[in-house]
Amino acid sequence: MERIAIYPGSFDPVTNGHLDIIERGTQIFDRLIVVILKNPKKQFLFSPDERIEMLKTSLLDFPSVEVDTYDGLLVDYAAQRKAHAVLRGLRALSDFEYEFQMALMNRRLKREIQTVFLMTGMRWIYTSSSIIKEAAMFGGDVEGMVPPLVLARLREKFPVLANPR
Ligand code: ADP
Repeated sequence: MERIAIYPGSFDPVTNGHLDIIERGTQIFDRLIVVILKNPKKQFLFSPDERIEMLKTSLLDFPSVEVDTYDGLLVDYAAQRKAHAVLRGLRALSDFEYEFQMALMNRRLKREIQTVFLMTGMRWIYTSSSIIKEAAMFGGDVEGMVPPLVLARLREKFPVLANPR
């Protein structure tokens, strides 16, 4: 039986930390579906189409990975796609509380779907989309923390980044 996992998030934008989790996820699962979930609580820098383009381009070397978007409950999407697991990445302690709550809520909603956590690679422990956006906005150099297309898109959004300090 094919093992399918969903990797949900905002990916605003995708970072090398996300790619690390995805790459390792492909070693565990036959198929990985990266899904951009609509999150009404959040304000985004990039449109869903821009986020999809950056993800797809960064994932060209991973034929078993698909990119999709969904507006609704994660467990419904997972069931629809016949996924067995939800993949999430864990960084510092600060991620734990939220991830724990969400995993328990998702299990309550649909018991058959397991949440699998992968520890971040040490290199990416402080990498987050939000900290990257904050740095980029003020011209902080984020090269090496994001895939090349994301760096190019950030430079378009924040011209100050074209000449990083
Ligand atoms: P969300 O809006 O759901 O927090 P994100 O796009 O920020 O979505 O993150 C998606 C998933 O990737 C989450 O499980 C998050 O913990 C994980 N993640 C984000 N950055 C990293 C990183 N640097 N290393 C490992 N996992 C990460």
